[in-house]
Amino acid sequence: MVSADYSSNHVLGGKNRNGGVFKYWIDSSVTSYGYGASITNAKNSWNAVPNAGILLYETSNADDSQIKYYVTDNELGSGVFGAADFWNRSSSGTLSAVSAASVISGTNFDMTRIRLDHGRMSSASYTSAQRNHNTGHETGHAMSLHHFELSPAHSGNHWMKSGQISLNSPSSQDADHLVWKWPVP
Ligand SMILES: [Zn+2]
Ligand SMILES: [Zn+2]
Repeated sequence: MVSADYSSNHVLGGKNRNGGVFKYWIDSSVTSYGYGASITNAKNSWNAVPNAGILLYETSNADDSQIKYYVTDNELGSGVFGAADFWNRSSSGTLSAVSAASVISGTNFDMTRIRLDHGRMSSASYTSAQRNHNTGHETGHAMSLHHFELSPAHSGNHWMKSGQISLNSPSSQDADHLVWKWPVP
């Protein structure tokens, strides 16, 4: 068995200032392109991880959300199927970007914007299980998980391994890292 590595290669140093409760808001583009089920699967599967101090649930209030989901159409770079980026929110609601590098090294943030690219996934003939992996993967970034293919890589398939992977729920390694980052308070 590969021992867990909890360095910033696998777990982002920073985290959402709101703590382990992640209210998420869904843009109308998600429904238009038919990705609601993938987000529900990500929510239910991450929420089912035993002993993790996290809770994902939907809110209709975008301005009070920790995650905002969008589906784009060939907006991301070639070969990029999903993206997560990080933002601060001022008391007046203005958003300002926080670089991935600073989040990796320990800067906290208020909101994660997730974009799932329907055009890129369609071009690569994504299946339902691959959509579920992509959505679970980007949601994992919002909860401060990073890439398990980075050295020391974890073998096998995981939601937090990048690529076109058929996987409907997080692996035991995904779950282990989530619990490490978010122990039950
Ligand atoms: Zn690890
Ligand atoms: Zn990623």
